[in-house]
Amino acid sequence: MSKKVPFVDPETCIGCSACAALAPDVYEMQEDGKSKVVNGEGDSEENIQRSIDTCPVTAISWVEEPQPPAPAVPNGQEKKKDDPVP
Ligand code: SF4
Repeated sequence: MSKKVPFVDPETCIGCSACAALAPDVYEMQEDGKSKVVNGEGDSEENIQRSIDTCPVTAISWVEEPQPPAPAVPNGQEKKKDDPVP
């Protein structure tokens, strides 16, 4: 099951830092002046939603956090080299 986490679109963010002020454990202002999500579960869903609603340029949205990739399953069949063509 995937989790819902906030995502900041860096192309849209104008760096007003409102989101980081509302949820400092979730967002961090970067050197380029944009906000970035550093911990998508760093605050309550309600407060994260508030930060999303507060963003003046609608740069934050919920996204489904991708699940870690499943471990590679060996197929148990070693591919044999083709016999050289005479
Ligand atoms: S509230 Fe929106 S515009 Fe302001 S820093 Fe956060 S993401 Fe960027």
